[in-house]
Amino acid sequence: MSFQTLVEQTEIHPEGNSASSTPFDADSFNEVVMSTYGRFPLALERGSGCRVWDTQGKEYLDFVAGIATCTLGHAHPAMVAAVNRQIQKLHHVSNLYYIPEQGELAKWIVDHSCADRVFFCNSGAEANEAAIKLARKYAHTVLDIANPIILTANASFHGRTLATITATGQPKYQKHFDPLVPGFHYVPYNDIAAVEAAVTELDEGNYRVGAILIEPLQGEGGVRPGDVAYFQKLRQLCDEIGILLMFDEVQVGMGRSGKLWGYEHLGVEPDVFTSAKGLGGGIPIGAMMAKKFCDVFQPGEHASTFGGNPFVCGVALSVCQTLEKENILENVQEQGAHLREGLKMIARKYPDHISEVRGWGLINGMEIKADSQLTAADVVKAAMDEGLLLVPAGLKVVRFVPPLIVTDTDINQALQVVEKVMVKVTA
Ligand SMILES: *Cc1c(COP(=O)(O)O)cnc(C)c1O
Repeated sequence: MSFQTLVEQTEIHPEGNSASSTPFDADSFNEVVMSTYGRFPLALERGSGCRVWDTQGKEYLDFVAGIATCTLGHAHPAMVAAVNRQIQKLHHVSNLYYIPEQGELAKWIVDHSCADRVFFCNSGAEANEAAIKLARKYAHTVLDIANPIILTANASFHGRTLATITATGQPKYQKHFDPLVPGFHYVPYNDIAAVEAAVTELDEGNYRVGAILIEPLQGEGGVRPGDVAYFQKLRQLCDEIGILLMFDEVQVGMGRSGKLWGYEHLGVEPDVFTSAKGLGGGIPIGAMMAKKFCDVFQPGEHASTFGGNPFVCGVALSVCQTLEKENILENVQEQGAHLREGLKMIARKYPDHISEVRGWGLINGMEIKADSQLTAADVVKAAMDEGLLLVPAGLKVVRFVPPLIVTDTDINQALQVVEKVMVKVTA
């Protein structure tokens, strides 16, 4: 086959008004792909802005955005241009060499956060792994703790590698994967007395708390914002005993909260924080940021083959610059308030079923009452039938995480669907 034929066969038609001629065959898919995911019976084929189309040509309003990832929505011209530019120039080399795009992206992050240094990897779990390794080395070499313990929160989520499922304070992610990684201890979220007690209790012999890893807003755990007073006391406590305060900003960071970083809502700065989901607008990238004083890694101690390659860094940089240039944070604040207000109005009509609407910017949750027989999945499924994509955050919380470029019209349409869905599922 000639190169030209190949190019013609793979030519992309962004307008793509014709759906595939053959319907998607889920059975063949399941025959060859491991069943690690519980999937909805839906196969998506293309997207534009906040809309996606399935293989039958049906349109959906996308309030999932690849789970809080597609910051600029689908096929955003800035991303398309950056992908084209970078793939033609240079896509991958190795960290054996200097990668200018990596330096530029790191500079952007450092200029726009409390961090001094950045390490790049490919996912949220890897970014948290890097933070865990950094915290352990800091504890061993600076704090002189032989067996450092990292405190994490109940109902947290930090990823699916062995260390990060251990860090995750939810037994359902750990079951059957033991022995888990030692050196973690869990405390209830937003409860400072529990942290103080754990720090005292765990201080015996060679064991001591060496760091705290926590989300500024718990995403998967049910869209639970951090409490300002709690986080300020956490910061104080860490300063007093000299341990690292590390924030997992994988879901809430990169503008989703209406500020660039979740910690800006809490009036405290972390020593270390991680990012992934929204950072590349949907291309796989993760990053671990640290202040200079705790950047303890030496050459050869941590690495990633793909991490920070020219392709992902060039594209992520264009995502960051677009966020800034198009004043997207303002849109997040405005549309986030619009969405919450609308959801609260709906919630007031269903006091027996909806207990709370909460969130920051464009990460919001609608919680279903514990004693209602409704589940988040019921609402998500009914919404999908009506052309709106949503995602549960646990059993009882419906999560709304649209692209950050979402418009007034999109929010109004989504609210209309939710209203219709509530009528249906409570009938
Ligand atoms: C999604 C998520 C992760 C894991 O990210 P992956 O890219 O799936 O490894 C970690 N922490 C938080 C808070 C997340 O939301």
